[in-house]
Amino acid sequence: MASLFNCHASNPDAASIKIKFTQLFINGQFVDSVSGGRFETIDPRTGEVIGSIAEATKADVDVAVKAARQAFDFGPWPRFPGSERGRILMEWADLIDQHAEELAALDAIDAGKLYEWCKIEIPSVANMLRYYAGAADKIHGEVLKMSREFHAYTLLEPVGVVGHIIPWNFPSTMFFSKVSPSLAAGCTMVVKPAEQTPLSALFYAHLAKLAGIPDGVLNVVPGFGPIAGAAITSHMDIDKVSFTGSTQVGREVMQAAARSNLKQVSLELGGKSPVIIFDDADVDKAVELALVGILFNKGEICAAGSRVFVQEGIYDEFEKKLVEKAKAWVVGDPFDPKVQQGPQVDKKQFEKILSYIEHGKREGATLLTGGKAVGNQGYYLEPTVFTNVKEDMLIAQDEIFGPVMALMKFKTIEEVIKSANNTKYGLAAGIVTKDIDIANTVSRSIRAGIIWINCYLAFGNDVPFGGYKMSGFGKDCGMEAIHKYLQVKSVVTPIYNSPWL
Ligand code: ADP
Repeated sequence: MASLFNCHASNPDAASIKIKFTQLFINGQFVDSVSGGRFETIDPRTGEVIGSIAEATKADVDVAVKAARQAFDFGPWPRFPGSERGRILMEWADLIDQHAEELAALDAIDAGKLYEWCKIEIPSVANMLRYYAGAADKIHGEVLKMSREFHAYTLLEPVGVVGHIIPWNFPSTMFFSKVSPSLAAGCTMVVKPAEQTPLSALFYAHLAKLAGIPDGVLNVVPGFGPIAGAAITSHMDIDKVSFTGSTQVGREVMQAAARSNLKQVSLELGGKSPVIIFDDADVDKAVELALVGILFNKGEICAAGSRVFVQEGIYDEFEKKLVEKAKAWVVGDPFDPKVQQGPQVDKKQFEKILSYIEHGKREGATLLTGGKAVGNQGYYLEPTVFTNVKEDMLIAQDEIFGPVMALMKFKTIEEVIKSANNTKYGLAAGIVTKDIDIANTVSRSIRAGIIWINCYLAFGNDVPFGGYKMSGFGKDCGMEAIHKYLQVKSVVTPIYNSPWL
């Protein structure tokens, strides 16, 4: 890390992290925005400004879409054999590995994520890229047995120019979960990172160019949601928009797509995921699982296990141990290797979470631990656990997106299935039990896109991830994600004994 930080590697101050790329990346070049406008990105450890980034507005999105359209209609990328796209994506992955620590530091300082975790996350996004690089030459249609008089087959063609709108909680993973399958499919794209976390995306664009991704294929336009994001969702020349973010904005994305050119939409939205712990569980392990489920990434993860249901036989022991562990959870500087939880991403999120905590108290839930800010600078929060939570309370229904758990007691399997499904969301669920019948029954009964049995937040490049209900539709990861960026063309032709000939 010596090249990146001037001071002690485990605890650098903001001024010592070099931010190399601060302009928009359009048509293979770093450029200023048309208006010359810029916005500030802050260090959530202190609230101080760490960089000034060119701000994309509609005019810049228009230029980027033109470049992506040109690259799609006339450039080599969609026309390369899949193996060539795969080779270039592999090169990109290798470059990411070579810069992993620098990229990890950018995500840590931009989003308040644990630096030690980011050092694991960056190589894992390189592997995600490799997964799709390997898939790029395995995209094919089918030969169809239409009738004796016709020969028919399907072609899988890239959907065209894609707009990707990325959230701030996993700036690298979310970037690659969208960019990798769409590049493998042969699409070209305009990517808007979240305004809170633009730094790593620009670095990735620089490495993409070095890897040989042709100009215009990947354009990165940092900017604000209602301006640059809305310019993407309402653009007449974007064929598909892939969005990850809040359910509220997801609704706006669909409306904008409907009002403009009926572009395809895929949405990965919020969650209020249940973790269900049965009497036969190992209590210590279950406590660990439940805590990681809500506190990982400071609760800023759509699949957070924010509602924890514990069966009555072990409830008291579970509650006692959970509170002990939550109190011992280490909150602090995300560059300190001993720390388990860094600051929330920005002031807005920090205040939103605190206001939910106040709401929970007013609604009559019992605050078992936490509930307050930590320290007097930056956006640090205590791990927070409420009990005596009623299902209709706001803290049991709304996605808080912070380190706030709603703990509830249950008696029977029927009762807990009903309660777990009592949410507009359907992203994920956890089940902790040694009983295979219970595990199978509950996993089939919960309406959610992923079920974790005796684990939680276990993701894989080949494991489709995405919601049911108001958690959205369209999967990231797995081969499902490539198909999101492909469209099926059927080709039919008469054969020798057809009346058409
Ligand atoms: P959060 O509320 O958790 O900040 P958002 O859903 O607002 O999450 O943000 C996720 C992404 O969506 C960000 O890149 C943000 O800039 C973008 N975004 C926000 N509002 C809009 C909008 N009206 N249209 C398109 N994109 C938007």
